[in-house]
Amino acid sequence: MPSPLETPTCRQHNMSTSAPLQGQVAIVTGGASGIGRAVGELFAEAGLAGLAVIDVAECDLSDLDAELVTGQFDVADADAVSGFISEVHDRFGRIDILVNNAGIAPVVPWSKVTEENWQRVLDVNLNGAFHCTRAAWDHMRDRQYGRIVNISSVGAFLGSVSAHPAYGVSKAGLIALTKSLAKEGAADGILVNAIAPGSIDTPMLESFGPEARVEYAEASLLKRQASPKELAESVMFLVSPASSYITGATLHVNGGALLI
Ligand code: NAD
Repeated sequence: MPSPLETPTCRQHNMSTSAPLQGQVAIVTGGASGIGRAVGELFAEAGLAGLAVIDVAECDLSDLDAELVTGQFDVADADAVSGFISEVHDRFGRIDILVNNAGIAPVVPWSKVTEENWQRVLDVNLNGAFHCTRAAWDHMRDRQYGRIVNISSVGAFLGSVSAHPAYGVSKAGLIALTKSLAKEGAADGILVNAIAPGSIDTPMLESFGPEARVEYAEASLLKRQASPKELAESVMFLVSPASSYITGATLHVNGGALLI
């Protein structure tokens, strides 16, 4: 342990600015589409040694310049998650980064909420992140290095808008999980942060319909949607050396939506 007054050059990897993730291995969930795909694209440009993508949908990521492993399964399936993450570790010998991004936002009003659809939202959005984090954690701890980014939502702070009421609950749960694991991981070099996106132009947002898209864009100080790439840039920041003193934080990438 360094002295508290020592400013460490840090338990960081050597990283060049052109390839800030040189030699690292990242896992991104929900990487077939939207934000997750944009994260995979940026990571691939950053010199990763390996990129592992989990998605329940088929992934076509053949255009990415990365050593790629894909797992097509549900993040709510704890056994599938742990088997896949072991395989990723066996293949690359390390896991540096985990981005818990897979999520669903079904449009279900309170009057149509059932135990089953409530549970499904929590299983994917919150428990999926738990399963992936638990499976990657010991590999990070063993190397005393890890960066975990949980994709939450403004819904954690405002409550769900179009989406199922469990959506906001699951995203608020991710913020609490982020804080708990930041405390747990600090002594082992594992930094855990969250991002609260606002309105991002992805298939998920399209599913809310054209009127809702305009409404959400208007519900930010910047009066527009963000591109998936703008969101991915924030993920890149949280896994890069530039954020080496940040843990347990939530980065609000929502155009000031909480100030309206
Ligand atoms: P998207 O629908 O384009 O992408 C989500 C991806 O997750 C898809 O590829 C989907 O197949 C995958 N996925 C869904 N369920 C899965 C499961 N059970 N197991 C594995 N993969 C699964 O949506 P997006 O907008 O890119 O959303 C990414 C994340 O960002 C989500 O967690 C979402 O809640 C969050 N978010 C999005 C917005 C937005 O405006 N788009 C705003 C706030 C938060």
